[in-house]
Parts: sequence; C-alpha cells; structure tokens
Amino acid sequence: MAKLLDGVAIAGEIKNEVAAEAKELAARGITPKLVVVLVGHVAASEIYVRSKVKTCGELGIGSEMITPPETITTEEMLTLVAELNGRPDVDGILIQLPLPKQVDTKRLLEAIDPQKDVDGFHPVNAGRLQTGQPALAPCTPAGIIEILQRSKIAIAGANAVVVGRSDIVGKPAAMMLLNASATVSVCHSKTANLVNYTRHADILVAAIGRPGFITEEMVKPGATVIDVGINRVNDLSEMEKFFPNDTARAEGFARRGYTVVGDVDPRAFAVSGAYTPVPGGVGALTIAMLMKNTVRAARQRRGV
Ligand code: NDP
Repeated sequence: MAKLLDGVAIAGEIKNEVAAEAKELAARGITPKLVVVLVGHVAASEIYVRSKVKTCGELGIGSEMITPPETITTEEMLTLVAELNGRPDVDGILIQLPLPKQVDTKRLLEAIDPQKDVDGFHPVNAGRLQTGQPALAPCTPAGIIEILQRSKIAIAGANAVVVGRSDIVGKPAAMMLLNASATVSVCHSKTANLVNYTRHADILVAAIGRPGFITEEMVKPGATVIDVGINRVNDLSEMEKFFPNDTARAEGFARRGYTVVGDVDPRAFAVSGAYTPVPGGVGALTIAMLMKNTVRAARQRRGV
C-alpha cells in the first residue's frame, strides 16, 4: 500500500520549529522581519501574499506589505529594493511574481541583497547551492528535501529523476538531491524516451505544469513520487477522468468551478511506495520554508 506523505503535517512541524526559534530570538530583542512586495492586483498573488503575511503573524515573525501600483517602472522598483536592502530592520525581501510586463524581473531579483533573498532566486544563492556552500535555497525544492528527510526516505545512493528544469523548481531540486548524494537525471521537454528515465527512478520529482502527465506505466513500482504540479482543471469530464467516483472532489468542483490536479495522474500513486498528494503535499511546505529562510536570514545577517 502506497504511503501518503502528508505535507500539511510536515509543514506544521517546521512552523512549530520556526515559531520556537522566533520566540528565542524575541527574548533577545530580535524580531525577524519579512517584507513582501506585491505589485498591482493579480488575484492569485494577493491570496499567496495574504497567506504569507498571516503565517508570519502566527509564528512571531514581523512582516510588512508594500503594494506599488501596476504602472511602476523597473527603475522605481530598483529604488525600492535598494531602500529595503539598506534597512537594518528588514531580514527578508520577497517580490511576488509575476510582475507586470514593463518591469525587468531578472534585473530586479539580482538587485536584492543575497543575504535578504529569502526566495533563494539570486544567482549568488544559486551558485552557493551549486558549490555546496550554505545558501538561502528556493522554498519549493527545499520543501521537497524536508519531506524526503522527515519521512526517512533514503536519498543517498537513490536514482532520482527530476522532470522539469525551471530555475525555481527543477534545477534547484536536482542540485539539492545531488548535494544529498542521489544519482540525479534532469529531464525536460526535449528528453528522448522519458519513460526510460522515470521507470528507473527510486525518487521521481514531477515539476512540469501539465495535469496528470506522469502516468502509471512511467513509475517504478515502490518508488517515491513527489508531485510538485499545481494545475487548475476547469473541465468536469477531465476532472472525472482523474478522480472517478470522488464525491468530495466533485463537490469542491461544483462549488468553485475547478479542481487542482498535480503533474502525476493520481492512479500512478497506487504503484508507488510513497507519494505526495495534490493538494496537501509539496505546496503545503512552500510557505513554511519561506518562514524558515526568513529566520535563517535574520540569524546570518545579524550574526546571532
Ligand atoms: P515551468 O513551466 O517553468 O517549467 C516546466 C518544466 O517542465 C520545463 O523545464 C519543461 O521543459 C518541462 N516540460 C514541459 N513539458 C514537458 C514534457 N512534455 N516532457 C518533459 N518535460 C516537460 O514550470 P515550474 O517549474 O515553475 O512549475 C512546474 C509545476 O510546479 C507547475 O505545475 C507549477 O504550478 C508547480 N509549482 C508549484 C509550487 C508549489 O508547490 N508551491 C511552486 C512552483 C511551481 P523545457 O525546459 O524543455 O521547456
């Protein structure tokens, strides 16, 4: 029977640890602080940002939200980042993506002080991760490693296959698995015979952005399957294809008009040894890891 790896429970453990650390720092007069910059009014971004700010409050981390108008220019954003870099009370800077078209996202992310780069997207942190030095690592891949380690799934010596090579998920996930001594293959849209890789994976990470892309025959029996995908499915018949006879899903679909499906066909979980569900798997870890990075950034920068 495949074991469900409960991301919500693991995220809860991490949040408790972060709250304990924040309390200990508070006793020494230090409140780690995260600043979230949200440009314009993208509905999904507003939900994410509210959730980040709320979690800060719950864990004893200070937070501030800055909401520049949608018309802001790259230069104005660079000025804002420079101010935040210079503020001694700010430990973490998070710029919620995506940004409006006129803003040069790459330039902006590179302008953040790497010590305050709690999203782990700065090339200095990517380079540190690659060279095995302490780094603020991107939150979603760091969450994957936490799930594996806390679930006592052996990484060293395992054949790990990561499908997806984005800078925010696939590549850093591959690097972190390699740093933990897995033998890693990174697959992408040009990979020939993808199934030949996935079928040999002891640990299979799917970060593709296509609902149900990894099917049963692509999974090695007993493998650990980590499903990073978060895909909205608005078509009822497609939802029923993935979740036949699932009344809870059907009710949710009727209420919201969509359901969320990962990159792994849920039927493939049955052949796995362990798997992360969607929702309630990797996604649940991302904010917890952001909080962990914020406290870590505070400690490193303040030397405590
Ligand atoms: P990107 O679109 O940036 O990258 C997708 C990757 O999948 C690319 O490397 C692409 O290859 C590869 N790919 C696409 N089609 C195929 C195919 N047919 N065969 C093999 N590989 C393919 O996505 P992200 O990395 O940003 O996100 C991936 C998924 O994870 C999404 O569903 C996203 O919503 C989710 N996500 C979840 C997070 C969370 O849990 N908190 C956070 C971030 C993302 P190529 O490079 O060749 O184009």
